[in-house]
Amino acid sequence: MSETSVNEQGIPVERPRMDVDIVCVGFGPAMGGFLTTLARNLKNPDGSPRFESQAMPGMPLQILCYERADDVGFGVSGIVTRARGIKKSFSAEALKSVPLACEVKEEKLLYMLDPHGASRRPAIVKLADRLIRLFKFALPYKDEALELPWIPSFLHKGDGWIFSMGQFMQWVAAEIQSGGDIQIWPGTPASGVIIENSSVKGIRLIDQGVDKNGNPTEGFMPGMEVRSNLTVVGDGPVGVISRQIDEAIGVPENYDRHEWALGMKFVVDLPENCGLKPGTVFHTLGYPEPEIFGFMYVHPGNIASFGIFIPSWFYNPIRTAYRYLQYWMLHPYFWKYLKGGKLRSWGAKSILESGRRATPYLAGNGYAKIGECSGTTNVLTNSGVDEAWESGVLLAESVIELLEKKRPFTKENLEETYVKRRQQSWLEKESKIAEKARDGFNRGFVYGLIGMALSGLTNGKLNLSCKASPHKEKMPTIEEFYRGKISPEEIVRIRRECAEKGIALNTVLMEKAGWEPIPYDGKLLISHQDALLIGGKVQAAQGYADHVRFVDEKVCMQCERKICIEMCSGQAITPGENGVPVFDREKCVHCGACLWNCLEESHRKLGKTNVEFLAGVGGLHSAEN
Ligand SMILES: Cc1cc2nc3c(=O)[nH]c(=O)nc-3n(C[C@H](O)[C@H](O)[C@H](O)COP(=O)(O)OP(=O)(O)OC[C@H]3O[C@@H](n4cnc5c(N)ncnc54)[C@H](O)[C@@H]3O)c2cc1C
Ligand code: SF4
Ligand code: SF4
Repeated sequence: MSETSVNEQGIPVERPRMDVDIVCVGFGPAMGGFLTTLARNLKNPDGSPRFESQAMPGMPLQILCYERADDVGFGVSGIVTRARGIKKSFSAEALKSVPLACEVKEEKLLYMLDPHGASRRPAIVKLADRLIRLFKFALPYKDEALELPWIPSFLHKGDGWIFSMGQFMQWVAAEIQSGGDIQIWPGTPASGVIIENSSVKGIRLIDQGVDKNGNPTEGFMPGMEVRSNLTVVGDGPVGVISRQIDEAIGVPENYDRHEWALGMKFVVDLPENCGLKPGTVFHTLGYPEPEIFGFMYVHPGNIASFGIFIPSWFYNPIRTAYRYLQYWMLHPYFWKYLKGGKLRSWGAKSILESGRRATPYLAGNGYAKIGECSGTTNVLTNSGVDEAWESGVLLAESVIELLEKKRPFTKENLEETYVKRRQQSWLEKESKIAEKARDGFNRGFVYGLIGMALSGLTNGKLNLSCKASPHKEKMPTIEEFYRGKISPEEIVRIRRECAEKGIALNTVLMEKAGWEPIPYDGKLLISHQDALLIGGKVQAAQGYADHVRFVDEKVCMQCERKICIEMCSGQAITPGENGVPVFDREKCVHCGACLWNCLEESHRKLGKTNVEFLAGVGGLHSAEN
């Protein structure tokens, strides 16, 4: 069968068509929860199919899942989790067989001081640092860090698990597919949603054999239309399908995608005898800049994952996660463990931190959303995996109920089952508590910490509310940010030189402002470019369109800060002619951060900026992240 539809350029294209019962977009933890629960309920005790396909009468239910990344587990990240939802799906014995998994044994919360004096600390933080140093003999102080004696219960992961999310997802995929009822197709992005009369009818897969603008070239293969009775969307924080549905069908009145963060993570071989035991978890704050939170989790096999988060309310136009992560590693508290270690792989990914406020319509005619694209991430507990998993489980239970009762996947039926289950679950209760927890950060780091503590300790009854203004209004220019450290004339010169070389400003500016050059060791401390080539290296197959586009080039020409270049996790966006940045698909790690970081908001509610982030293949090749 085939179907004719128009491509990006408005040209009619004949596409192959396939009909299934359930099509799923994205294989992250949310979809893991959905498909694990569904797979266990598709057969009768005698092994015969429990439900008949409507798409292919006489056959069992036809269920397909398409994943953008080149393999299962490449597009995810993490993690330490209390795993409440995951533990309901799997026994502890089963989880022990997941590579790199272990139970949390020890947990520490660290306040890291600045050993070099280069970070930008408000006066009150500097005062706190001075007092800590003065009384360090009486405090749990070690190597320029304060080991806080108490971890608030909302942050505690004491009864949880440490996973490599990539390994966990591969293990889950094997379990789901072993039943033979569900197929997961990696390397196959969904590029568009099919909507007819306000009902979702399925998805369109990405076109192959096109130029960077999507025009057909030799070997053009139009993406298939996959028509389905139910489209399950679990495409994460920057997923194109969930955003297309929001635009076409609308969003609830108070919906907002204004808060986000970029997380960057390294997976390393620790040096022998480094002294860190599997199951150890560190949460950090205070360094390399006060607004940057960090973490380290120690896996079995002398392997550790660590990383940092660059939040949307970090008002620094030089937002390079890669460089800041190197300074985090070099902090004396961690360098004593890491020195001599080796980078195995790395990754970066966005997090939608608007939490409950970013809850769209969870279901409509022919579709349901699960996981981060449905606002599950909890910004108070710093937890997203378990919440995503649980949302998938709740949808699967609802789908089974509807299949049993032979009721169609209409908005009304999905609201009566899935949306109702969500409203009655711990997800809803906890997301209410967390709703305003991060608001204080709009007024600064210290105010933000107090706000978080207040919300957490009073179960959301007391909050420090603060209305968020557009990030563009609060973000200083580079000249303002470096006032007193680098003269405007020097910045003009550095800008010119970096533009001529086609590189970002961040390294030169940070070193001028007092950050020491990174002492490269060729193993753990390596250049950003080298990191793209090792371990989880970037790959981008030929014949696909660019998935990052600059909507209005005139806006880019006039843009002073060009944050898209400074923050790019893969150095895939670089200075170009006439002030319009250049995108190199072969370096893009698919973190999606350029979409949020551009300050030119064109539709704030939906988080739209002058960067368009479309469906794309490739990215980092590593199943350890
Ligand atoms: C560095 C970092 C560390 C983190 N640490 C923790 C932690 O310790 N604990 C914790 O609980 N949470 C943590 N999180 C958050 C956690 O990763 C997310 O909350 C969680 O992954 C959300 O799951 P999801 O299934 O909704 O979405 P995702 O994990 O984002 O999965 C979505 C999937 O959809 C795929 N996809 C997207 N678009 C398409 C398309 N068009 N077609 C096909 N496939 C598509 C993606 O490739 C991806 O595999 C961390 C996040 C980051 C970035
Ligand atoms: S994409 Fe946004 S941040 Fe980048 S140059 Fe254009 S307007 Fe500026
Ligand atoms: S271009 Fe790619 S690597 Fe760079 S910020 Fe955008 S998504 Fe991330």
